[in-house]
Amino acid sequence: MIRKVLPLLLSLFLSACSGSSSGSTEAISDRPIRAVVTTGMVGDVVHNVGGERVEISQLMQAGVDPHLYKASEGDVQRLAGADIIFYNGLHLEARLTDVLAQMDQTGKPTVAIAEGVPEEELLAPPEFAGFHDPHVWMDVKMWLHTIDPVRDALIELDPDHAEQYRANAEEYRTRLQALESYVQQRVQELPAERRMLVTAHDAFNYFSKGYEFDVFAPQGISTETEASVEDIRSTIDVLVERNVPALFAESTISPDIIKAVQEGAKARGHEVTIAGPLYTDAMGNEGTPEGTYEGMIRFNIDTIVDALK
Ligand SMILES: [Zn+2]
Repeated sequence: MIRKVLPLLLSLFLSACSGSSSGSTEAISDRPIRAVVTTGMVGDVVHNVGGERVEISQLMQAGVDPHLYKASEGDVQRLAGADIIFYNGLHLEARLTDVLAQMDQTGKPTVAIAEGVPEEELLAPPEFAGFHDPHVWMDVKMWLHTIDPVRDALIELDPDHAEQYRANAEEYRTRLQALESYVQQRVQELPAERRMLVTAHDAFNYFSKGYEFDVFAPQGISTETEASVEDIRSTIDVLVERNVPALFAESTISPDIIKAVQEGAKARGHEVTIAGPLYTDAMGNEGTPEGTYEGMIRFNIDTIVDALK
């Protein structure tokens, strides 16, 4: 239903905007840039690289699952009124694919920042047929690749402030490199056999590769698919066989699956605690430390290492 309605809404909004676009006569370098972003992690890069030049409107707030998120009428209006749109891409925002493609077709800069990660570094799990794994923010080394696409798109839109965007980008890069060192340092506290991360959905493949953890999740890469009884049973087998002490809940997902795994393990005589919730597909609330990318990653690694030690 929504697929049929969206193009109509879109054309109405677009014609309204092109007619009356406030400030259309004002040069973009003389006013703030209106950016619409999808997730908080994307917004964090744009905020840090754009600085005070960019006014950000974020579609998905804390606790919202990007795999399942659909655009409301208000969202379409916000997207149509933006100077520039930044999203993760790699099919994370699966249900925004059509509306983002249409924005792109109108000539509006529409930037999939995770597609700045070199293709040879992307993972392509066979069960996520035809797509790369979108959860690149879970390894800071991967997320560092998203800085340049944001910087370059802002410079193209607003070349008068190019130096500012370049300087901001380098400052943010330095901070993320320090964050990466912090994560590495905490990971070293766990011996290899303790690096076992069991979560509800499979958001940790880049984390696994980047920090040498084994990861298991009954629900797969996208929350669009549900965990089967067989998936839950095989996760319980892993817990029992490897004597895993903790499971991790996620901020964007109901704890039901992880509780079912805990119950199943208990029935087989293996007590396991539930830690977290980890911030996987959304950051924490605005104004809290976890409401930034750096705070989210620090919270996650501290929670993981402390629970598995
Ligand atoms: Zn996810």
